[in-house]
Amino acid sequence: MTQLHLDNASGEALFARRKEAILGRLQRHLMNSCATCSEKIPSEKHHSLSQRERHATAEDLAQVLTSDTDPLHFQVLVHLAAICPQCNDQLGDLGQLHEEGLLPADFSITELDIFLGRSRHAAPGLLRRILDQPEEASFRSAHHEEEFRSWGLVEEMCSESRSCSGTDPEKAFQLASLADILAPLVRCPFLPKDCVNELWMFAKAHKGNALRVVDQLHPANSQFLEAELLWNRTRTQYFHYRERVLSLRASLEMDQRKFSEALESLAEALELAKVTQGQQLDLQATILIQKYLVLTYSSNEIEAFQTLEEAERLLEPAGPSRLASIVLQNQLDYLSRTGDYPEAQRLLPRLEEMTADLGLEPDPVKLTWTRARIAQGTGAPETSIRLFQEAQQSFLEANQGYRAALVSLELATVLFEQGQLQEVQQLAAQMLSVFRAQEIDREALAALALFEQAAATKQLTERLVRDLVDYFHRAQGNPKLPFDPS
Ligand SMILES: [Zn+2]
Ligand SMILES: [Zn+2]
Repeated sequence: MTQLHLDNASGEALFARRKEAILGRLQRHLMNSCATCSEKIPSEKHHSLSQRERHATAEDLAQVLTSDTDPLHFQVLVHLAAICPQCNDQLGDLGQLHEEGLLPADFSITELDIFLGRSRHAAPGLLRRILDQPEEASFRSAHHEEEFRSWGLVEEMCSESRSCSGTDPEKAFQLASLADILAPLVRCPFLPKDCVNELWMFAKAHKGNALRVVDQLHPANSQFLEAELLWNRTRTQYFHYRERVLSLRASLEMDQRKFSEALESLAEALELAKVTQGQQLDLQATILIQKYLVLTYSSNEIEAFQTLEEAERLLEPAGPSRLASIVLQNQLDYLSRTGDYPEAQRLLPRLEEMTADLGLEPDPVKLTWTRARIAQGTGAPETSIRLFQEAQQSFLEANQGYRAALVSLELATVLFEQGQLQEVQQLAAQMLSVFRAQEIDREALAALALFEQAAATKQLTERLVRDLVDYFHRAQGNPKLPFDPS
């Protein structure tokens, strides 16, 4: 929250402007109401202030809004609203909006800011009301009821849609569809009319994202195309929606295996997020994590790891967070996969501690997988075999055939190292029959068949198993990739 008290410089500025109409009348009130601010101006100077002390009024606010955008005026008004009940009564919700972080932190407040602040403040309540209805009725309300035509509500729907897309894709789609209906109907008296295209683009992108998470890639793509059309019709940019839209589009491009397009979208999103006031560090880190995934899928491992380090540096000053734990988990995955076991071992307790402190559930299967690799690399084969089997079982139960295959192959490398060739043979036969029944790409299945055959005829080499692990890792991002042993 922004500090409301005046600092030295603003105290001096305030004093220097004591003859200005609004400030002049309110200064004595502020000096008498706030001891901290009063100390900033030496008491002998207080004598030169206007003798009249009075509360701020709604007219003061209106006058400041229409005639002056001097941040100092707003700071004084917001401060009085926060500390004096009578001023607060007069200034409406100014103090509360500030308290909730819904006004510009530097007090450069305009009528548009207050409009948006109020709209965003009311949004969670409106969202509950529209979602309390049966789904069909919620769509009727969106089409016909004026009260829901709110800028903040559309933003809130988009943000909720994004955060529940992993856990409740149906709700994510409902929310984004409601936002898509409402966005073009919203009016803002302080913006040119076509600015609504910016909001609408935002809604379309979230609808596309909700379709993407349920693998409806084609309809998802259409939504993003519509979003682009709206973006092209947006002449002046007032909001920071574009970088989010690009980040969502990159996720679609990743699912479509369009890696170079995804990298372009992410680069553009990152640039925009960086120049924004406040720099949107969480968004920047999210974009970097996306970039890491694209780079590992396209086998650009070194740059991938550097990308994670960049995300780590961004998030470090703010301390532990959900995003920081995701970065750490990916770092661990990378280090254990590329054989840097000592470093992975060093980071593991940090992840456990961070997730425990935050009350988060780390991805337990991924963590088991990482531990299995570390055990393999640090001379604990029995533990390693047990953990790989655990991870394999979890992936199979969750119907994640691809990952189960990858873990199984890593398990085969330990068994091979231990000379347990019969177990490798059994594993290979079991994998082939399991994955024939599961959804797994044709090329990957062919690679598994080759593995099974080599094991059955005792022609399997450690090299071949390692090549297969490497192949399955790369083919995650490119299912058409044929297996080509070295
Ligand atoms: Zn103060
Ligand atoms: Zn007052």
